Amino acid sequence: MAGPREACGVFAIFGDDEAALKTYWGIFSLQHRGQESAGIAVVGPDGDVTVHKGMGLVTEVLRPEVEAARSGRAALGHVRYSTFGESTVINAQPLLMRTRFGPLALAHNGNVVNAPGLKAELERAGAVFQGTTDSEVLAHLIARSRREGVREALLESLGALQGGFAFGVLTRRQIFAARDPLGIRPLVLGRTDRGAVVVASETCALDTIGAHFEREVAPGELLEIGPEGVLSFRFAPVAPPMPCAFEVIYFARADSRIDGRSAHVGRRALGHRLAEEAPVPADVVVGVPDSSLPAAMGYAETAGIPFDFGLVKNRYIARTFIAPRQQDREMGVQLKLSAVPEVVRNRRVVLVDDSLVRGTTSRRLVQLLREAGAREVHMRIASPPYTHPCHYGIDTSRATELAARNMSVEEVRAMVGADTLAYLSLDGLKAALGEHRWCLACFGGGYPVPVPGVAEPATRA
Ligand code: SF4
Repeated sequence: MAGPREACGVFAIFGDDEAALKTYWGIFSLQHRGQESAGIAVVGPDGDVTVHKGMGLVTEVLRPEVEAARSGRAALGHVRYSTFGESTVINAQPLLMRTRFGPLALAHNGNVVNAPGLKAELERAGAVFQGTTDSEVLAHLIARSRREGVREALLESLGALQGGFAFGVLTRRQIFAARDPLGIRPLVLGRTDRGAVVVASETCALDTIGAHFEREVAPGELLEIGPEGVLSFRFAPVAPPMPCAFEVIYFARADSRIDGRSAHVGRRALGHRLAEEAPVPADVVVGVPDSSLPAAMGYAETAGIPFDFGLVKNRYIARTFIAPRQQDREMGVQLKLSAVPEVVRNRRVVLVDDSLVRGTTSRRLVQLLREAGAREVHMRIASPPYTHPCHYGIDTSRATELAARNMSVEEVRAMVGADTLAYLSLDGLKAALGEHRWCLACFGGGYPVPVPGVAEPATRA
């Protein structure tokens, strides 16, 4: 809840008579990944690609009855929170480019770390950029490729990108889907009972439209989904996936599975481990809704302390955290969450949150619990200190704003006003997430893809 903000969500479907409507529901279920803009591109019966998009939530920008009326059997949708590029409608996606391969719509989640260098090269070669997103860099690379077909142009262009990214591309004939060479950003493949093929940032979008999960899109893989079925190509060598650990900790919807691991089960395991590492005498365990509740339940189970709903969420405030000014964000917390006095009054409360990035939300939550009568507030964070900014598509703000980078644990405790504060250890995180390689860069675990201009350690063995 107090964690960083997600970048984007991508959804695409091929072979469904209601492609645009299914895409509407698909991106609706990915709304938690981005609330700034939403859009859907469809291939119409005339073979042209049209895009509806705008600033705001899916339900504010698009209407299901309008999408249902858009005929076409292939569509691509996107929800966005800007991590690179300004928050303006020109950066809303899908982007639509007219190329020698025909119209191309493009949607992207993540961050291309070498985009600034590629963009400068493209501009020197005469390319004109309309917006400021790195997605446009891929569009220009494809448009300028000398390769014969769009697939070859995509393979060449994707091979030039570095970072953590997942792309969906819609053409007149097919959709393409690609995942970065280490599989940092998520992308899954599914199928409906009627044979339509779906790709999505999370499995929850498959479930929403009644599609079955088939497999993860492999790191460095380009899928071409069209009349010939699902064809697989590689733009980078085979490598074991290294997904973003924060998807399990916070970003993904609790009912999604990240590289085979349920986000809900993973969060509960983090809570178990946290209780083993940082026990404290208390009367009740409270989690920050919604993403921290499984970790709080796990903590309570292992600690043998009752879990209760000491904080409740106002479900009708969805976008407070995109407020640009700090005072607006703090007011947003106040509007978004309330303490339940009957749960916390005169009690020693363990407050479990999934992450602590800036610390301003945590400070307000501790204050809310104290105002509701809590006798003690012990803050427990179900992830390690967040010390390094993410360069792979997650907005964690600048390094100077990261509380744990600039303060000791005791200083952070004093800042948030808790009686005690403890984080999960990095080893504890690895143990709870199980046998898998994870990107752990924001916890000081080393950047798995070097970031131009950033002198930080590479991934630790
Ligand atoms: S640096 Fe952190 S937030 Fe970014 S991809 Fe890696 S684990 Fe995820």
